[in-house]
Amino acid sequence: MGLVKRMWMEEQERLYHKSDDNAVCPECFDDPGIKSFIEDNLECETCSVCGRTSEEPIAATADRVSEFFLEKVGQHWEDANDSAPYCSAEGGFLVTTWSMYEIVFDELPDIGPFETLEWLYNHLRDDVVWCERDWQILKPGQALAAGWGKFSEAVKHVTRFLFFTSKRDPYESGEPFEVRPDEMLDALGRAIRKCRLVRRIPAGTHLFRVRGHKRGKRYSTPEQLGPPPRRDAVSAGRMNAPGIVVMYGALDEDTAFTEATGEFRFYSVAEFELLEDILVVDLSRIPQVPSIFEDKPRESIIFLRDFKGDVSRPIRPDQKIHVEYTPTQVVSEFLRHRFRTSSGKSVSGVFYESSKVKHGTNAALFFESEQVEGVLNDRINPKKPALRMLSVKERRPVP
Ligand SMILES: [Zn+2]
Repeated sequence: MGLVKRMWMEEQERLYHKSDDNAVCPECFDDPGIKSFIEDNLECETCSVCGRTSEEPIAATADRVSEFFLEKVGQHWEDANDSAPYCSAEGGFLVTTWSMYEIVFDELPDIGPFETLEWLYNHLRDDVVWCERDWQILKPGQALAAGWGKFSEAVKHVTRFLFFTSKRDPYESGEPFEVRPDEMLDALGRAIRKCRLVRRIPAGTHLFRVRGHKRGKRYSTPEQLGPPPRRDAVSAGRMNAPGIVVMYGALDEDTAFTEATGEFRFYSVAEFELLEDILVVDLSRIPQVPSIFEDKPRESIIFLRDFKGDVSRPIRPDQKIHVEYTPTQVVSEFLRHRFRTSSGKSVSGVFYESSKVKHGTNAALFFESEQVEGVLNDRINPKKPALRMLSVKERRPVP
């Protein structure tokens, strides 16, 4: 085969048109992943999109950018002719397909301004019919979400106190990313570490707890307003089974008050201060889902964003609450007793979004009553105080 013929064939196999003198600068893209790729590959002094020039290299070649773009696209889409079922009687492929035009302009319109998309598209070939890569199986994030669904169902309705068997159900094989109920908590722990959701909360941080009461029966002591003593921890909560002590609060007074208001007309509002730095799992600050071009744990973030919605989900305080709270109660115990940070440390609580106050953050802290300064206890080895009550006031809901 002659050289010209071979080059022509190689060109055919490529998914983009080679270009000798086209380049693009990072400012012409909005996507952080593409921007940083360009910044790492500056070779040219002129940007073909915005026309900017410099004596220093400020742009990456169109070829390199096209290759990077296609590499990432290829992780999410594949040639439908290689994998998708086809039926001419049904009018073509039996799964959703895309042209390159549709991938660029319909699926990835936010990566840059229209001019940039046009420039990019003009460098790409558009003669492949694309389908979702591995459309037959769940993606890792989807598999985690499905695993969480099965886990929740299992602890609500199958087994709560004895954990599950590890035998793989033969009917469920074929899902390489499947997460079985007995694997779910460890998978959750890994996702939390990957997405760096453990946050240090410094000593001095304030926290609010609110309790409703009858007229003239206001609460005033740290024992009444801190975490309940074990003997009084009789009710179930989102993050505790009956009998297990957790201190619920919020990072601001309005959130604590709004979360607590319900059956009472009078409320005692206590403000606390942390006496030491603590680590918490912060579900209120899960990053936005990164683009396919960013070097971030995208699948874990997709799952955790779904998961945090389930954790904050409003649950009607009726009889079913004892069942509906079970999955988060198990997660709470896992985080309290088994979870470790990347550096092997344990955490002292969970922050999660308020479902009643926009941008409000709830806190469930794994503290016992005696960990509030001034609470008497008769334990042989009392824990040292971690919280100080600063003030109490009474507040009534606005009618
Ligand atoms: Zn530019």
